[in-house]
Amino acid sequence: MPHPGDRVKIVTKKSTEEGILMPTPDKNTVIIKLDNGYNLGFEKKDVTKIEILEEKKEHEMKKPLHFSSENESNVRFHEPKKEPKEIKKNKALPTIAILHTGGTIASKVDYSTGAVTAKFTAEDTLEMFPELKNIANLETELVSNMMSEDMHFSDYQKIAQAVKKWAEKNVQGIIIGHGTDTLSYTAAALSFIFEKINLPVLLVGSQRSPDRGSSDAGLNLICAAKFIAETDFAGIATCLHQHSDDDNCAIINGTKVRKMHTSRRDAFQPINTTPIALVNLKEIKFLQKDYPKKMDNKVILKDKFETKVGLLKVHPNMDPKLFEFFTKNYQAFVIEGTGLGHAPTNLGKDNLKNYGLLKKFIADGGIVAITSQCLYGAVHTHVYTNLTRLANIGCLFCEDMLPETAFIKLSWLLGNYSSEETKELLTKNLRGEISLHRTFEKEFIDKND
Ligand code: ASP
Repeated sequence: MPHPGDRVKIVTKKSTEEGILMPTPDKNTVIIKLDNGYNLGFEKKDVTKIEILEEKKEHEMKKPLHFSSENESNVRFHEPKKEPKEIKKNKALPTIAILHTGGTIASKVDYSTGAVTAKFTAEDTLEMFPELKNIANLETELVSNMMSEDMHFSDYQKIAQAVKKWAEKNVQGIIIGHGTDTLSYTAAALSFIFEKINLPVLLVGSQRSPDRGSSDAGLNLICAAKFIAETDFAGIATCLHQHSDDDNCAIINGTKVRKMHTSRRDAFQPINTTPIALVNLKEIKFLQKDYPKKMDNKVILKDKFETKVGLLKVHPNMDPKLFEFFTKNYQAFVIEGTGLGHAPTNLGKDNLKNYGLLKKFIADGGIVAITSQCLYGAVHTHVYTNLTRLANIGCLFCEDMLPETAFIKLSWLLGNYSSEETKELLTKNLRGEISLHRTFEKEFIDKND
């Protein structure tokens, strides 16, 4: 009988895989952790054989593991919380607060079980990345411990309140450890929430957990700390690998960043703009001159969100039921259109029905924001008559704003402003979400590398 922690071979009709058997609360699935760190799940009915290659070692069996009841679907196991030890502060160095929200960056692989455990004290972080000791004194807070795909607006509010608390303690800056999947949504949310912020707040994630040889966590954290300690930047940005090798990290505006790859360490790229700065262990190079700087000590926070807001990706052969659902259930929604901002609203009975639904929705007070699934470039109201038809019924074209950023912005605007104000502010550049000069990162890198 195989147990979690055993090294096993799983045989199905289609393939044979090897890895560490993971604990799972669902009796119909089998999960193993592969040697590359990723989990692989099988439906039990498809598994023809589980062969034990090596049993879990006895001393490791004794290690108590506690199931996290916070979020069962994450199958996360925690070591019992260690009492944090008092760490001596170096008075010559600034203090940085690290807020953990979970995700891969706050985890390590337990090689006996293959499960992921949380690591969150300042002591743990310093133990793993002793280089940080030469840059700053660290304070840490566990804000949440979740995978970022499970986040709600209420999680953004929790993170924002923690940021405000630390900002008012006059730390030099704040690093937020976050899962990578929805890191850019949180970055956009915090960018809008903080109308004014007196310090740098950098979101950092990692594609591989910090204990793995190939982890990107160390460089991301160290570069974030260095950037906070050595610059006058004040605002919300991300700090992650610029390339897949360990050369630079890119500091990217929280409203212009996107995860562009499922697994590469350089997944986070600025869209239609350049990074604000590049950081490595030796130097910091600013690529934008008019970045937000520390001015005074004011923190202005507006953290309400309207939840009846949707994001609709259009595609060929679209069922009008989707438009019916969105126009019936939401106050406002973002259309992730094709090309310059098109939607299936022009030709054929179904598509004309979509047009009618949109027209009525807007006439009744609903708000429709138009963005593009191309991501690079901007939407436009006049190039084709089909675009003009959408503009004429009141669809609001959001220039080069990312669809996800537009979704967060629309929800945030409706949470804090009237519908009329929302319409006016949606297409105005509030936090760098609309670029004045659009740059393709690739062109930029080719020129500067
Ligand atoms: N799914 C995870 C998350 O977004 C992946 C990661 O942490 O990088 O939380």
